[in-house]
Amino acid sequence: MTAVYIHFPFCVQRCQYCDFITYANVSHFIPTYLDALKKEMRLVLPGAKSADTVYFGGGTPSLLKPEQVSDLLQTMNGLIGINSDAEITLEANPGTLTPEVLRGWRKIGVNRLSLGIQSFLDSDLQVLGRIHSAEQANQSIKAAQESGFSNISLDFIFGLPGQTLQNWQQNLDEALTKSIQHLSLYSLIIEPGTPFERDVAAGQLELPDDDLVADMFELAMDFLPKNGFQQYEISSWALGAENESRHNKVYWKNADYFGLGAGAHGKVGDHRVQNVPTIPDYISRIEQAPDEKAIFSPALAEKTFVDEKTSMQESMLLGLRMTREGISENEFRNCHKVEMREVFQAEIGRILQAGLGQWQLQADGEHLVLTHRGIMLGNQAFQEFV
Ligand code: SF4
Repeated sequence: MTAVYIHFPFCVQRCQYCDFITYANVSHFIPTYLDALKKEMRLVLPGAKSADTVYFGGGTPSLLKPEQVSDLLQTMNGLIGINSDAEITLEANPGTLTPEVLRGWRKIGVNRLSLGIQSFLDSDLQVLGRIHSAEQANQSIKAAQESGFSNISLDFIFGLPGQTLQNWQQNLDEALTKSIQHLSLYSLIIEPGTPFERDVAAGQLELPDDDLVADMFELAMDFLPKNGFQQYEISSWALGAENESRHNKVYWKNADYFGLGAGAHGKVGDHRVQNVPTIPDYISRIEQAPDEKAIFSPALAEKTFVDEKTSMQESMLLGLRMTREGISENEFRNCHKVEMREVFQAEIGRILQAGLGQWQLQADGEHLVLTHRGIMLGNQAFQEFV
């Protein structure tokens, strides 16, 4: 099974809270960037199994025309094949969509859409610096469904400046009227170097206190399951296990994946890797590389060896994020050739003692999963494996 992440670091404008690797006003680089992506595929993909998940993330990959997405998918298909039932996700900004483009993506095989709604309130969207309105968000969901998308995820941010519990409930209520299949809910993080950080420091932006943010998270945890959405990861809810993100589960299961494009992360065997972050650097590194198979991308900026102990810690840290599955004892043994209970006896003991986790018998044996308290206080449990 192969998972491929393709980073598209182009945005119309930068949102006020964003610290992702993405750039505005550089769309003139797009054609050469796409050529570089295809060459990176030709260099690193051959020899891999056929793709089971492909994820176009950003940035704003919805700036790509269907023929551009198709060109990338065809290149990948020619190199390693893409399984007929592969999950192919594209992240989309509601401010960039038209019915024609949506129909085009669906036609060429994109079968999962992750829409960055963030809020259904225009006042929130303006504070965040989003390019879309609530009306555009509504229209884009409708247009996506009319174009044949039946696996749609909506992203929201909570803990926004001025946000109340009632506002947050309104967002969730409205989301549930949309007949969508997946929700990703993230609490606002004030990242260093963003305009939000500056405004908070200057006292121009007032954030809800930690208790209120925790109440918002708990509200979602209580409310969504009553409406059919099961939480399967700290920030992710799906309408049935079949709508859980297959691609993201590759990350949480600590499995290998290819990361293509500027700034993209990947996991290649014993190494975690990241490409150079700037678009011109990425393009020139790839353009200048000899046309021969490489294990690591010529655009590599960082390569970190992950020793076995660290890899086991990562399996615990990432696996605990999966609130439904947790970490399977059998999978851990198959992957690391040792017993989870032996390696982390003390750590697991403290997690159980503090009521943060529990053993649960699932179809393939025992799993360590977070309790409700453990989900609310996730960092306390994760700290055991840092
Ligand atoms: S659209 Fe997404 S990637 Fe682009 S600036 Fe906004 S938050 Fe960042």
